[in-house]
Amino acid sequence: MMNFELSEEQKMFRDSVRGFAERHLAAGALARAHEDGFPREVAKMMAEQGLLGITIGEEAGGIGGTLMDAVIAIETVAGICPRSADVIQAGNFGAIRTLAEYADEEQRRRFLTPLLAGEKVITVGMSEPEAGSAVTDLITTATPDGDGYRINGTKVFGTHSAEADYILAYVRFGPSVGGIGSVVIEKGMDGFTHGQPVRYLGGEEWAQLYFDNVYVGPENVILGPGGFKKQIAGFNVERIGNSTRSLALGQLAFDIARDHALERKQFGRPICEFQGLQWMLADMSIGLEAARALVHRAAASAGKDGFPDPTLAAQAKILASETAIWVTNDALQLHGAAGYSRDLPLERMARDARMFTIGGGTAQVLRTLVAGRLLGRKLPQTRDGYVRDKRG
Ligand SMILES: Cc1cc2nc3c(=O)[nH]c(=O)nc-3n(C[C@H](O)[C@H](O)[C@H](O)COP(=O)(O)OP(=O)(O)OC[C@H]3O[C@@H](n4cnc5c(N)ncnc54)[C@H](O)[C@@H]3O)c2cc1C
Repeated sequence: MMNFELSEEQKMFRDSVRGFAERHLAAGALARAHEDGFPREVAKMMAEQGLLGITIGEEAGGIGGTLMDAVIAIETVAGICPRSADVIQAGNFGAIRTLAEYADEEQRRRFLTPLLAGEKVITVGMSEPEAGSAVTDLITTATPDGDGYRINGTKVFGTHSAEADYILAYVRFGPSVGGIGSVVIEKGMDGFTHGQPVRYLGGEEWAQLYFDNVYVGPENVILGPGGFKKQIAGFNVERIGNSTRSLALGQLAFDIARDHALERKQFGRPICEFQGLQWMLADMSIGLEAARALVHRAAASAGKDGFPDPTLAAQAKILASETAIWVTNDALQLHGAAGYSRDLPLERMARDARMFTIGGGTAQVLRTLVAGRLLGRKLPQTRDGYVRDKRG
């Protein structure tokens, strides 16, 4: 039997998250959308409510829920306060998942515990100026020095990088993919500096991170050489988070647009009576239903380890992010000038939605991933990769 409904337990969880979001997040949602910094007070409230570390086991300080529970929480929060969805995603996926999975007990106590309490902020330092989609070309080095390592390199584009307390930095211990692992770099370490913060289209800031001979002890190494493949598996989870937020942005934009179409009058009639807008709303609802079905299916594909099927996760991210871009833009269009104005949240939502076909793996790179899995072939993108492949 196919079941497209949430279970009773899931509905109860959704209702409790909705109650929390309506009580604590709804009133400040528009103001928060235009604030620059990471809303740390929201992180603390979410921690108290048990909304951080949902998929992390209780032994690691998490809640022990499923990936679908995290999706329900993100979708519900994002539908009420899109900015707070940043907090709930960062508090459940990305670096937090990597630490829960691979950090030892002492590292969890030092890094994960304050993150799950909403007291600290972490960024993932993967992308570099010359290594974006080709992330395995990263050149930040970890050179042995006594028991620890000296880190040299530059990271770019990190979410919350302008104010992060910790950086989960992907570094190169040796050549090729097998030489990549990760270390935690802490704010204030000697040789670690920030560039001038730069603003993204969505309004958030990021900063270039410079590591100039930063010393990290062995206690800050999360994964040594060979760690890259393990860490990248966590990205399938991150993609579910991105897909869910795209979906929620689209749904909220649709809801606002539908209400507006019923209320706003032009030519003496509510604008919902014009067929051009009726079809626009119908198309938006079709796109959202399709995206929701795929996002939920991808989330439900996660086994006990909490990792979803990589093909479904990539397909869901492509569909949900591309849908969110046109749905938020159509919702803005349906409002005319009011939609373009900053006293409604729609313009910010349209700007936010734009990011999801880029961050977390671009829509192009993910299509290649999907194609490779469908064809049952590796599809190396480098020129020497193709040469190696031909030689077998
Ligand atoms: C809002 C935001 C938050 C981010 N957060 C983080 C973070 O927290 N940590 C972090 O490390 N990084 C982060 N990133 C960076 C993100 O991971 C990269 O932007 C992404 O991997 C693409 O790299 P790039 O921007 O250098 O683009 P490039 O790799 O230079 O790509 C440029 C264009 O070429 C296309 N392209 C590249 N290679 C191929 C190919 N083989 N086939 C087809 N098309 C291709 C891309 O799809 C893109 O359209 C973030 C980015 C954004 C926008």
